[in-house]
Amino acid sequence: MPLTVPPPILTPDFGPKADVPSIVKGVIDDIRQNGDAAVKKYSQQFDKWDPKAGFKLSQEKVDEIISQVDPQIISDIKEVQANVRKFAQAQKDHLQDFEIEMSPGVHLGQRNIPIASVGAYIPGGRYPLLASAHMTILTAKVAGVPNVVACTPPIAGQIPANTVAAMHMAGADHIYLLGGVQAVAAMALGTETIDVCDFIAGPGNAFVAEAKKQLFGNIGIDLLAGPTEVLIVADEKADPYMCAVDLLSQAEHGPDTPAVLITNSEQVGRETIQHIENLLPNLSTRELAGTSWKNFGEVILVRDLPSAYALADQYASEHVQILTENPREALTAMKNYGSLFLGANTCVSYGDKCIGTNHVLPTRKAAKYTGGLWVGKYLKTCTYQEVTDDQASGRLGELCARSARAENFEGHARSGDLRAHMLLGRKYDW
Ligand code: NAD
Repeated sequence: MPLTVPPPILTPDFGPKADVPSIVKGVIDDIRQNGDAAVKKYSQQFDKWDPKAGFKLSQEKVDEIISQVDPQIISDIKEVQANVRKFAQAQKDHLQDFEIEMSPGVHLGQRNIPIASVGAYIPGGRYPLLASAHMTILTAKVAGVPNVVACTPPIAGQIPANTVAAMHMAGADHIYLLGGVQAVAAMALGTETIDVCDFIAGPGNAFVAEAKKQLFGNIGIDLLAGPTEVLIVADEKADPYMCAVDLLSQAEHGPDTPAVLITNSEQVGRETIQHIENLLPNLSTRELAGTSWKNFGEVILVRDLPSAYALADQYASEHVQILTENPREALTAMKNYGSLFLGANTCVSYGDKCIGTNHVLPTRKAAKYTGGLWVGKYLKTCTYQEVTDDQASGRLGELCARSARAENFEGHARSGDLRAHMLLGRKYDW
């Protein structure tokens, strides 16, 4: 089987030629100028939401919605949120503020300060992705963000009750029924109803990812977490049926989900393809999964496992599942992935839904430069310094003045000169 070249990632659900950047720019510009009126217009157009219903959910409405949710779902949300909270807290505990004394009397330190106001996007165009509420909102709360504004779209004009329950239980301070570009732009620019946020986090489709990209600068963003991707590295010991099931589990996300198998076993590759063809007709989400598999599915045969890891690194996929005899070797063999799923007992769906790691992960090769969402994304790592020793400050003044003059910064140099004069008695002319 020849090594295949990955196809470009298009947005076939909105037409292969949909000009996502210009559609997104048009919506953002309109919301910038017309605020709530534009937000309502797009909410009606894209999500069939009645503009008269308003998009902010009051506490009473949230309580009413939650009272209708199946108690088993509430109990499962609690269990999953406990997992997400525990792992996020452990990540936070490993992020210590610190201060060192560089030399006698020269103190440098850093503090991790939570962002004041975060906008969390919870996707919901095709599926009510309530797990994204745990990942974005709860993680922000563990980080210590005091104000979390959260948006999720109505699904075909209906309120996604389970998602609203998860958003509330995760600790959202304000909940809005808004999706897509209109949600991201409203949180980034502010409207009459929604206060402007400092930072937007959360996954979404190509429109959501593009909106975050275009609004970056007005606000901060976590990362570009667009349409889901999965890549499996399998050796000859892997179960082809499991490979097929796990590829389809991600392919159903949307019609634009790359599902890739890299294997050193031709038999595993061929049998996986056969199983997928057999399984697809009986999958209720076969339309999405089948479209993804047809357009973006790949099975790639390589010489050996080192070549598999090297190729997987080039893909820099969001989810990388390792189905080999020694799965832990991927921890050192691989560098580019959103999250690694090691061994046959550990499927990507665990990460997506319940195990406790964050499922908001980089896509379209962003894993080459970033990991996924975590408490650290909601914290600003800010440094400070204090010089408590006169001699030390005087010497720094001299070093500073020379360094500044090497760059023709005379004003900077005078600040250093002044200290050197005051503390060491050096000459000072202004
Ligand atoms: P979504 O909430 O991301 O998008 C729905 C919104 O898209 C709608 O509210 C609507 O406003 C907008 N929209 C739809 N058609 C439009 C058009 N023609 N023009 C402008 N806006 C339009 O929900 P979704 O569509 O179901 O997508 C969820 C995505 O999130 C999937 O692609 C999934 O793979 C991805 N995801 C990614 C991660 C990650 O970490 N990378 C995690 C979970 C989910």
